Amino acid sequence: MSHYTPLEEIAAIHTALNQGFRSGKLKSIAYRKQQLLSLAYLIKDNAERFQEAFAADLGRPVLEGAFLEIDGSITEIKTALNSVDKWAKTERPPFSLTWTPMRPAIRKEPKGVCLNIVPFNYPLWLVVSPLAGAIAAGCAMVVKPSELTPAMGALLAELFAKYMDPDLYRVVNGAIPETTKLLDLPWGHILYTGSGRVGKIVAGAAAKTLSPVSLELGGKSPVFVDPKCDLTVGARRLLWGKFVNAGQTCVAPDYVLVPRDFQDTFVAALTEAYNAFYPSGPGASTSLTHIVSSAHTARIKRLIDETKGKTVLGGEADVERKYVAPTVVRDVGPQDSLMSEEIFGPVLPIVPVDSLDEAIAFVNAREHPLVLYVMSQDSAFKSKVFDNTQSGAAIANEYIIHCGVDGLPFGGIGPSGNGYHTGKFSFDMFTHLRAVLDSPGWIDRILGARYPPYDDKKLKAVAALANTKLPPRNAFKFQGEKKR
Ligand code: NAD
Repeated sequence: MSHYTPLEEIAAIHTALNQGFRSGKLKSIAYRKQQLLSLAYLIKDNAERFQEAFAADLGRPVLEGAFLEIDGSITEIKTALNSVDKWAKTERPPFSLTWTPMRPAIRKEPKGVCLNIVPFNYPLWLVVSPLAGAIAAGCAMVVKPSELTPAMGALLAELFAKYMDPDLYRVVNGAIPETTKLLDLPWGHILYTGSGRVGKIVAGAAAKTLSPVSLELGGKSPVFVDPKCDLTVGARRLLWGKFVNAGQTCVAPDYVLVPRDFQDTFVAALTEAYNAFYPSGPGASTSLTHIVSSAHTARIKRLIDETKGKTVLGGEADVERKYVAPTVVRDVGPQDSLMSEEIFGPVLPIVPVDSLDEAIAFVNAREHPLVLYVMSQDSAFKSKVFDNTQSGAAIANEYIIHCGVDGLPFGGIGPSGNGYHTGKFSFDMFTHLRAVLDSPGWIDRILGARYPPYDDKKLKAVAALANTKLPPRNAFKFQGEKKR
């Protein structure tokens, strides 16, 4: 690809950004704000060009581009702009008679020059959300867009050069060789968003340079369906969450667990919502994003072709046009093709179960998902699911948009990732908490007992400094929680 960053330039970019970082420009909060605002205008001034890039790379409708990425990216930057003064303030630990005289404090310091490796599916928001936090934290950053979104990669490279300080913020375009070259270098922090397969490669490379790393991965996010739910609203929201961006969303509901005797009613509700979304059939719809590549289309088509379940809605796939119709498949078993990997496409398998306990055991036997969804109006059902499972997020009666909710962390657990971003969590990801202390001379009147030569009097004085008294051995009585 002609716009890939030449391999031999990568080390020079790293050096230039380290020099830029050490210049101290970013110590100024005003300069961070200026760069944040410039990033916001980079998006606002060029919203139409971003829409063109979404259309070229993903065949994405304008509404999805605006709602899922452009608007959210700008609000993310505004949050950082409005909060950076507060976030960056030095903090003091709680008062302590022993330590407070030493003026202990926690300085919020930038980790340095950071790296953000971005996947294809949200090619703007996944650049901007971490970058806003990195700028607010006072870090420099290299952004590596996905090679599967070349129009976005080229646009970001062009606009970064125009809007952002080139000593601090650069785009490196490329695929595996370029990313490998980047990963050979030490970074203040690496954020990788993408598949677990590549996540292992990134974590391994980061270990070699002892660069701290956060992994935002994916997986199969389940939906637990309770017959006691608002089925009309629930069906509409579920299909939207699954089919928006053609299912290429890390937090998309991957599959549904439904009581066996509720499956017919559930499918009928999905059919009604489906027909309302695509009144002339999905083939005629202009409200669908396409699959990013022919290879991914062929992969999803294979999953549909090999399923032993019954396709009740959609099912068509055209590799050449990178098109997969929104599809619902019922009576899917645990060993089915559709359960073999993260689908990352507009296909919803329904797995019938005989009890809620069976559904919980089904999820707990698999890797912790990025999100666990519940469709229910019954608080006992919701609590039972949330209390007996682990996942990145636990969401009732809504899909996907929790990532945009102010103040909520966005991140996985175990195989679905580690570390959090959005808002203050992005700032924290790129911030080092530097412990500082400045001890006055008179403290030795209290702490002088630490100096040799040691004697019994000093031993007693040292022992008196720390209060090591414990509560009685049986102070906390645990009788076991009642099983719900
Ligand atoms: P991917 O892992 O194929 O690619 C992501 C990035 O890694 C790209 O920039 C790519 O160039 C780079 N890369 C690919 N192979 C590499 C290698 N061998 N060495 C070094 N770098 C390499 O992921 P994708 O297909 O673009 O995205 C889909 C996955 O991302 C899904 O699993 C999805 O769930 C996950 N995802 C997670 C989040 C989240 O925030 N948790 C968000 C979006 C996507």
